[in-house]
Amino acid sequence: MAPAVTLAFTPDLDLTRDALASSTLSHGLMVLGDRWTVAVLMGAFTGVQRFDDWQQRLGIPRPTLAHRLKTLMLLGLLRQRAYQQRPRRFAYHLTQAGLKLYDHVLMIWLWEKRWGVRRAALPEKLLHRACGHSFVPVLACSACGDKAGMNDLHFSLKVNQPLLAQALNAGRTSRLSATDATGMGLGLRVDRWSLMIVAAVVLGCHYFDQLCHVLGIASSVLSRRLGGMVDSGLLLSQPDLNDARRNVYRLTPSSRDLFGYLVCFSTWASREHLHQPSSIRPTHRACGQAFVPQVACSACGQAVKPWDVTFTALPLPATLAA
Ligand SMILES: [Zn+2]
Ligand SMILES: [Zn+2]
Repeated sequence: MAPAVTLAFTPDLDLTRDALASSTLSHGLMVLGDRWTVAVLMGAFTGVQRFDDWQQRLGIPRPTLAHRLKTLMLLGLLRQRAYQQRPRRFAYHLTQAGLKLYDHVLMIWLWEKRWGVRRAALPEKLLHRACGHSFVPVLACSACGDKAGMNDLHFSLKVNQPLLAQALNAGRTSRLSATDATGMGLGLRVDRWSLMIVAAVVLGCHYFDQLCHVLGIASSVLSRRLGGMVDSGLLLSQPDLNDARRNVYRLTPSSRDLFGYLVCFSTWASREHLHQPSSIRPTHRACGQAFVPQVACSACGQAVKPWDVTFTALPLPATLAA
């Protein structure tokens, strides 16, 4: 049986609720948080350019792929170029704006390598051309350059009123999608709502009633989701030391590892997509500066740029290799 625990910190629940609803994380995930969109982006960053290649590599249904490519073009992240005139065929390339998603893509690569189920669809190794070493991406503070993780940061909350108003207006539709199990982000186990639950736990909400309050989802839906996350190892549920009828929900190593993705993605959404400050504001305790993530090379410590990285070729899908 899991050991009982007790937690001293009590979060301001109304503030946390409004901060989560108006976070650039939440708003960004509505645009790019779905499983196929993430898969198409990962493909683009690993050199896939043609419709049929995506289709074969990802096993994505053709209409879905067409729809996601169109969305990514409308967002200005991909552009189309004809590589054949008759019949006319197009290749898809990342734009300058698309390349800015690189940090978040590296964080997805890292997470998938450690915990995911799509390892086979990703490059095995990344090589940093600048230093000549194979590397793993490391989350660092762009102000001081030091490596930084969740425990090195302090979070303050400031509700973003325009984004909160948008969230309230979209309330009905987004609540419907709350139960939509097809909206998957990383791997097959992590979707938009599980990322929001992880964010709520990071902000100090560890009890069922707290999570229910700050996420604004029905208790039956939340209880199903929490159960699923406990089963798939994303949350630990332990009896509370002070009240054995209550359970404390805590992060596990795999959900703690989602933090790099969460912070890189919300920063991208804030700077490049929504052009709004995030309601969740991390500060790097060590240097005292607002924490802006930077993804660095584990070998040389320098920030990693897309054009500085080569990777081992992707294996062919099993069906083609056979
Ligand atoms: Zn710092
Ligand atoms: Zn390096």
